[in-house]
Amino acid sequence: MATRISHDYRNGDLVLIAVLKGAFIFLADLMRALTIPVCIDFVQLSSYGTGIDSSEKPFLKKGVDADIRSKDVLIIEDIVDTGLTMAFLIDYIGTLGPRTIKTCAFLDKWERRKVEIRLDYVCQKVESGFLVGYGLDYDESYRALPEIYRLTV
Ligand code: 5GP
Repeated sequence: MATRISHDYRNGDLVLIAVLKGAFIFLADLMRALTIPVCIDFVQLSSYGTGIDSSEKPFLKKGVDADIRSKDVLIIEDIVDTGLTMAFLIDYIGTLGPRTIKTCAFLDKWERRKVEIRLDYVCQKVESGFLVGYGLDYDESYRALPEIYRLTV
């Protein structure tokens, strides 16, 4: 994926905007595998709280700090589930005047989509179930696990 992104943006001015907190490990690995210069920034939205159900209406807790006017933005998500968060972010970032916006997710729970969104780069499609590890948490636990695990109750 990093090779593809590096190729696709070889003439671009790329800003990676990662979604806190879950995407920070994926961002760190991805940006180190790129062969082109990039800037990074972060956004944070209302989280799942302690539950495992997707919040219906994302709420922006931290917006973009960087000036992304005329830049190429790639939104970096840990996992896309209903798609509501990504749809919200595409709209929000679109208001900030970037040249292009594309989307990138480490994991894609494509079967659970509630809104149609285009994911330009996906590492792995996964089935439903609540996943933890590699930055993904359950009530702030398990983020440091080096691999992805499915939580069972
Ligand atoms: P969506 O808005 O697409 O329903 O959900 C996106 C967000 O929900 C992700 O950024 C992530 O924080 C959280 N999420 C969705 N599925 C999972 C999961 O299986 N495990 C964890 N830990 N978080 C998830």
